[in-house]
Amino acid sequence: IDPSKKLSFRRCISDGDLVIVYERHDTMKAVKVSESSTLQNRFGVFKHSDWIGKPFGSKVFSSKGGFVYLLAPTPELWTLVLSHRTQILYIADISFVVMYLEIVPGCLVLESGTGSGSLTTSLARAVAPTGHVYTFDFHEQRAVSAREDFDRTGLNSLVTVGVRDIQGEGFPDDFTGVVDSVFLDLPQPWLAIPSAGKMLKQDGVLCSFSPCIEQVQRSSETLGSHFTDIRTFEVLLRTYEVREGKMESCQGDEGSSFGSSSFGSLPCKRRQTSNEGSNWQENPSSPMIIARPSVEARGHTGYLTFARLKCAA
Ligand code: SAM
Repeated sequence: IDPSKKLSFRRCISDGDLVIVYERHDTMKAVKVSESSTLQNRFGVFKHSDWIGKPFGSKVFSSKGGFVYLLAPTPELWTLVLSHRTQILYIADISFVVMYLEIVPGCLVLESGTGSGSLTTSLARAVAPTGHVYTFDFHEQRAVSAREDFDRTGLNSLVTVGVRDIQGEGFPDDFTGVVDSVFLDLPQPWLAIPSAGKMLKQDGVLCSFSPCIEQVQRSSETLGSHFTDIRTFEVLLRTYEVREGKMESCQGDEGSSFGSSSFGSLPCKRRQTSNEGSNWQENPSSPMIIARPSVEARGHTGYLTFARLKCAA
């Protein structure tokens, strides 16, 4: 199958494809389709041969009548199922990085370290079909595993994984002055920043991810000499579970009171109707919209520092 077709998921599943088998939002796994194989889980036995020829997104049934969905291995889903060899970036940070690094099809991007390849997968999709991501890690086995993953996800024509100590040696000189964007997820990014600056085209953008503010301060000091527009962001994704339910009791104003429901004890507000004017009404027997932060919501991951290479005077 030609690589550009393989990257498109507007097609039917073929023998040899990677699919994400979705049981529930927190139970998914990547499976390579093989005509003669089966998948067994708590819902029964699924024959891969039944999957071939079905569009991505199909619901498929086991011999016992249980079902799963066969989803396309998008970077968003890959990030949720990949094997964690390191800490990884998640999609809230990843989408911000791709946007603020201004990565578009055709871009040339440098990354270090590769880690588990979570970010790299999204970078590869963003530069496709004509760009390329060169990603470096000094850990040989991680580089090997990352290459295997890019083979599985069909991204190997868009990504090259190199083994190199980027903090010690910098990026290879071959990239000097031709790179659109650089991304660093390293313990001491300030050591790699001078080399990153040499690699970027005029106006190119760098991003460094660091979990601690002390790392951000040190990187920003180094950035100051060759970069401009230095900005640090923290992306906090707050997911709410929202349901309509009945509260047993709800007193007081403006969500300052607590009631109980299947959600437990919660601050509550009832939906206003057009006749109700500006005050919240209380009527414990009528349904209301109730929300609470999801228990799965992640907190702090790290700070993203962006900077643009200063134009030569
Ligand atoms: N951003 C990655 C992802 O989303 O999967 C995770 C990167 S992981 C936290 C950091 C990686 O940097 C590790 O794999 C580590 O081996 C690599 N690393 C640390 N120091 C390095 C150095 N001096 N040169 C190259 N890679 C380095």
